[in-house]
Amino acid sequence: MFEEYFSDNAKQMRSSEIREFFKLTEKPEVISFAGGFPSKDCLPIDQVQEVNKRLLLEAEEEMLQYSPTEGQEDLRKYIVDFMAQKGIDVGVDNILVTSGSQQGLDLVSKIFINPGDKVITESPSYVGGLGAIRNYRGDILSIKVDNKGLRLDLLEAELERLTNNGQQIKFIYLVADFNNPTGLSLAVERREKLVELAEKYEFLILEDDPYSKLKYDGPERPAIKNFDKQGRVIYLGSFSKIFIPGIRVGWVVAAEEVIQKLILAKQSTDLCSNSMGQRLIAACGREGIIDNQIKKLCRLYRRRRDKTMESLNKYFPPEVNWTEPEGGFYTWVELPPYLNSKDLLFKAIEQNVAYVSGEAFSSSGQKQNAFRLSFSQPTLEEIEEGIYRLSEVIKTELNS
Ligand code: PMP
Repeated sequence: MFEEYFSDNAKQMRSSEIREFFKLTEKPEVISFAGGFPSKDCLPIDQVQEVNKRLLLEAEEEMLQYSPTEGQEDLRKYIVDFMAQKGIDVGVDNILVTSGSQQGLDLVSKIFINPGDKVITESPSYVGGLGAIRNYRGDILSIKVDNKGLRLDLLEAELERLTNNGQQIKFIYLVADFNNPTGLSLAVERREKLVELAEKYEFLILEDDPYSKLKYDGPERPAIKNFDKQGRVIYLGSFSKIFIPGIRVGWVVAAEEVIQKLILAKQSTDLCSNSMGQRLIAACGREGIIDNQIKKLCRLYRRRRDKTMESLNKYFPPEVNWTEPEGGFYTWVELPPYLNSKDLLFKAIEQNVAYVSGEAFSSSGQKQNAFRLSFSQPTLEEIEEGIYRLSEVIKTELNS
């Protein structure tokens, strides 16, 4: 009955496959490689309890009261220092605290996209990013990736084609470090070149970076934002994967003019982000608890990543390929083109193992022969057993 009342925007909203599948994967007997959740084995429960208790005694009012829309001053200062550690030099007026980086994706889409505006994404791309762009009826053009991330040759050809047609893109959305879903990273030389292209073709770059601190081999790469001279890069950060997701605290780094517009957009969305969460993050950040947690997480996830790679090599048949992530939560598995990962998922779930099928990460329902494995949650034993079970499902399908 409500269909005729829904707005045009609401009519074209789609439910995320990932959310739907969570229901199936919640059964305790299922080994789930589906959700991109931080491990429950490493949540900083004691530290959070201790700091929270202390803050409630010391700063009761600030914890319980509304806070400024742009975010609490202490937290914004901590984020300025956090960005400085990455070599990104910004001031508090360049920071907006958001309710998770997902809100950053929504607000940026809200302030920049008119219905029909062209936005470029990677193919495949983060489902929540695609959803945000789609909700404001952006016209998504997707560009393929290879082992070094986004194919800039294809991007440039597309930009040239659009220019010749008198068209322009508003922004390009990408996850340059340990991409969700591919686990791949954009090569440093491509980051620099991408910023040059943005200057030449006059578009903005939305760099979504929840994972770069979770790097398991070698030093961190510079962010795309590190190469930004004109303020074209809007950077999204998050404490969800490097600390805790439940308090919903993320941030945007952008030119002041953009931050001012985002503040207006946020005011009518949620007035302010979680005040307790912001205080807690600022205190845990200053006391070194977040840095410590990042080190612990890197140790834990490195072992899980290694076990995943080892098990894939041991059990998966030669017809199947997968990516080798240097960090983050994910590896992307490609089956021969005649296999459909969604059909296979139902068979996998019968064997009590789950993943997310590839088409969820495509703006046009492609990637049907691929799937995402998230290795952040299962234990080492579960990883080996789960990958063994999956390999049996795949082999049966290949032989049928
Ligand atoms: N961007 C990417 C690439 C993600 O993987 C996620 C979480 N899965 C988010 C944004 C949203 O994270 P949050 O809102 O918890 O900060």
